[in-house]
Amino acid sequence: MTAITLAAPLAGWAMPLSEVPDPAFAQGLVGTGMAIDPTVSELRSPCDGTVLSIHRARHACTVRTASGAEILLHLGVDTVGLNGEGFTAHVQDGQSVKTGDRLISFDMDLVGSRAQSLVSMMVVVNDGYTVDGLSVDREIAAGDAAMTVHGGSGADAGLPAAAPDSGEDGDGETGERSVVLPIASGLHARPAAALVAATKAYPGTVTIHCRDRRANAKSVVALMGLGTMLGDRLTVRAAGPGAQDMAESIAVLIEGGLGDPVVSTVAAGAAAGAGSQAAPAAPPAAATPAQPAAEEEVGPPFAPGEEVLLKGTIAVPGQAVGAVVRRFRSIVRVVEQGAGPDIEEPRLRRALEQVVAGLAQSAQRMPEHAAIFQAHRELLDDPELLDGALADIRAGKSAEWSWQRTARLQADALAALADPRMAERAADLRDLEQQVLTALSGKGPDVGLAELPAGSIVLADEILPSDLAGVPDGRLAGIGMAHGGPTSHAVILAAALGVPTVVALGRQAERVPDGAPVVIDGNRGELLVFPPEDTLAATRTAVAARTARREENRLTSREDCRMADGTRIEVFANLGRVSDAPGAVVEGAEGCGLLRTEFLFLERQSAPTEDEQYQQYQQIADALEGRPLVIRTLDVGGDKPLSYLPLPKEENPVLGLRGVRVGLREPELLRAQIRAILRVKPAGVCRIMVPMIASPSELQAVRAMVDEERAKLGRAEPIELGAMIEVPAAALIADRIGAVADFLSIGTNDLTQYVLAMDRGNPHVAAQLDALHPGVLRLIRLAVMGAKTHDRVVAVCGGSASDPMAAPLLIGLGVTELSATPAVIADLKAFIRTLRMEDCRRVAEAALGTDSADEVRRLVAESWPAL
Ligand code: PEP
Ligand code: MG
Repeated sequence: MTAITLAAPLAGWAMPLSEVPDPAFAQGLVGTGMAIDPTVSELRSPCDGTVLSIHRARHACTVRTASGAEILLHLGVDTVGLNGEGFTAHVQDGQSVKTGDRLISFDMDLVGSRAQSLVSMMVVVNDGYTVDGLSVDREIAAGDAAMTVHGGSGADAGLPAAAPDSGEDGDGETGERSVVLPIASGLHARPAAALVAATKAYPGTVTIHCRDRRANAKSVVALMGLGTMLGDRLTVRAAGPGAQDMAESIAVLIEGGLGDPVVSTVAAGAAAGAGSQAAPAAPPAAATPAQPAAEEEVGPPFAPGEEVLLKGTIAVPGQAVGAVVRRFRSIVRVVEQGAGPDIEEPRLRRALEQVVAGLAQSAQRMPEHAAIFQAHRELLDDPELLDGALADIRAGKSAEWSWQRTARLQADALAALADPRMAERAADLRDLEQQVLTALSGKGPDVGLAELPAGSIVLADEILPSDLAGVPDGRLAGIGMAHGGPTSHAVILAAALGVPTVVALGRQAERVPDGAPVVIDGNRGELLVFPPEDTLAATRTAVAARTARREENRLTSREDCRMADGTRIEVFANLGRVSDAPGAVVEGAEGCGLLRTEFLFLERQSAPTEDEQYQQYQQIADALEGRPLVIRTLDVGGDKPLSYLPLPKEENPVLGLRGVRVGLREPELLRAQIRAILRVKPAGVCRIMVPMIASPSELQAVRAMVDEERAKLGRAEPIELGAMIEVPAAALIADRIGAVADFLSIGTNDLTQYVLAMDRGNPHVAAQLDALHPGVLRLIRLAVMGAKTHDRVVAVCGGSASDPMAAPLLIGLGVTELSATPAVIADLKAFIRTLRMEDCRRVAEAALGTDSADEVRRLVAESWPAL
């Protein structure tokens, strides 16, 4: 019996495993040993030995001692999800190492900010060894004696590490079952330990096979060494008594996630079980298989005459009447068995080429949105996508089956990232899945909406950018989506086409039959199904009249906006990119009241440089021809994360690091943006607006930065600095914020979500999420009153500035500037010109005394029936 003393692999605070914030380690499921909260960024070998494996995510490494003990060194908790980011491996599998040799180095700031904890574990993971002499509850230096491992002889027992798959399991009773791995980070330490715990007592052998490798399911190291990934097809093989039952039980455990969250995988893949013969056995008591998500009852199609109002979220304003064209994704019948790789691989490659050509044509048709089609192209170029599909084809599957499985797995993985931007990329990938399947079916690209009859209102679970690229001019009257977010690529394209769009209508939208007459109201976020004939006719007349009126309103829209009693109200435009600016001026924008600079920062690998930012701001200022330009500093975090910005993982990101909180945490990012704004000529044309202000001190901190950067640039002219009022606390203390801000601008989108405690992206509460709720209006009044004590202008730049029903209320409450979507500006200015302040005040006062947004809307409609 040998005893080996292990050296501390890191310096830091040494602690017993029971204090590790990960139950699998704390309960000793992974192995026995200790942990260190590190103060250094290099992991060193605790012994002389051989590197058994460096994990694919480079956060863990196993070293085998001369006595055969396998020592798992695991850096941090929940670090596997970083996928190697922040870790550098200095050794390779199979390499001999000496005590103190550098194994892995890591970026402490990055890993520390993204992982749950930096506490790192050193545990013996194979059987037959005991540990004592633990040096814990003290500061430890790297290389200090940390613990002693007893046992072993140095002989290699069993199948410790993942090994090439010989396909042999020996004689006797055997069982087998295939399963698709539903764990985002593959079989990392925690699920591997759970798997070992489930197989340990089994008297026979259990092996897990993946691609051409296999691992002993009783070895954490071997399982981790398989390098499995989400969506991998695993084969569980058991040999021994009740082998088939054992294989089934283990497969069920894997399907249940082994303690990690289950990521849904494509049904076809999950059902794949080439070797499965017996009926599934009951899972062991400890198993917690994932329940299939309960499908929402959708109900039968709405019947003609059954008038129904569906509420969603405003995406593109405007109204339209038309007949429904359903584009809900149908189940594509895809045959699994292929005609052989020689036939299937060229078929897939030809289909991909066809889709790429279609993307190029779409980019030509809509050059201003070429970036979206380029993003699709890049997704198609992803080698993992093609490699995954080709692997299935080589295993005898059809091109359709292989492509669909791979695309869905990747889309599901993206959608599971709890990142709305990634979810939108998942939608892009689903789009590509369909496009390639269509190409494989022999049909040409762009069959989606290319043959729409005029006046179509398309209803879909989610419209895809490629659908819109193929629509001939003038045929698409409106869009309603059951799901989708208001900032998706497709919505940006719909806005560019001027097509009224409502998103997040919910699955009830599926009940609307093909051809049903509907009214889509992008101003209110509503879809009216089977309206009575007189409502339809009246809406048609109203839409035609509105179109004519809008043309007429455009004639005067470039003039200043004054109410009937002479009160000046400024109407500005919300902009997102350079190309929006000239059109906004044509519509009558008197300036830009909100430049959402996020568009410049999103969908990039790194932050835009100061020069890049400056050039874009200058181009917008030039297009506005001297009109004011309010540039909002970066509003990322929360629902708009940046891939290159190291923000910690948050339980409730919308209540966490977003807006100014990110700017103050990453001051260099904010300072570069401030410098870019300060450089725009002529000085004085730009104003700076800061999002998510909750306290005056935040704005003062930004002002200090602005003053410092101004001094460095030698710019004498001051620049106006305003606060967005979108956090309820800011509205309540607007008098305090007004003391340090030059102007205030109310973001009703966020203010409403925070006041009503309703996520603005959640389709389940979309129907109640109305900025005309009297609670929101009362806060707006408080904000205006607070600002008045310092004579500050109060603007509204959230969605309600584009809602004509909100205009008299906001004006009646004391708002003097509205910053709206360019498409509504001509009409909005014309409507404001008809208003009298005393009426607005009276109705606003009455609105404050109501119980609901619906009541408020009724009140406004009674006072201004033409709306
Ligand atoms: C708002 O919250 O109303 C606003 C204008 O900001 P955003 O919609 O960009 O969050
Ligand atoms: Mg906001």
